Amino acid sequence: MARRLEGRVVIATHNPGKLAEMRDLLARYGVKAVSASELDLIEPKETGASFAENARIKAAAATAGAELPALADDSGLVVEALDGEPGIHSARWAGTDKDFARAMRLVEEKLAARGATAPERRRAAFVSVLALAWPDGHGESFEGRVEGTLIWPPRGTRGFGYDPMFLPDGHQRTFGEMSAEEKHGLPPRGAGLSHRARAFMALAEACLD
Ligand code: IMP
Repeated sequence: MARRLEGRVVIATHNPGKLAEMRDLLARYGVKAVSASELDLIEPKETGASFAENARIKAAAATAGAELPALADDSGLVVEALDGEPGIHSARWAGTDKDFARAMRLVEEKLAARGATAPERRRAAFVSVLALAWPDGHGESFEGRVEGTLIWPPRGTRGFGYDPMFLPDGHQRTFGEMSAEEKHGLPPRGAGLSHRARAFMALAEACLD
């Protein structure tokens, strides 16, 4: 049985957007989120070979530094025709200046080089793994994924990263055209569409109530 999460938890991110999202989600279960930046925790190198390994590395480093349970996430875009790339390198493809227009172009060029023009050759998934780690070494992790098709040219100016080229299955609009509530919203208000929302719902069912 999964261990319950109670009291305070440190969120192993220095990204204010992720922190705000997690803080909101946890607040409704009476769990208080403290950020890694507030505690001056250092960010470990993401040396894992999978989303799960990288999420665990970040959670383990934060729980050791804070002596509190820690929550970390790792996520990215997995493109079938590119053998799973950019995957754990999704942020890196945008370069140090975080240029996602360039990262999306790179995905498109690589798909074109493989002749992947038909929608069925352009399958992709956003994947998110949330890892929880406790100071005594206990850990839990939860994966969420959303399947879809990559379109070109990208559409929409909302969201971030690869959102404008990702058309989730069963929808006519890309993540870049959806409101935050539509993309990430949890039931009863939202449908829990995004990979992060789905990973969080799995975590909540196992570790929160
Ligand atoms: P992380 O902060 O190491 O998990 O980096 C994940 C990277 O994957 C981000 O920089 C984005 O490029 C990409 N990514 C993850 N989730 C999303 C999403 O919901 N929309 C668009 N891109 C995403």
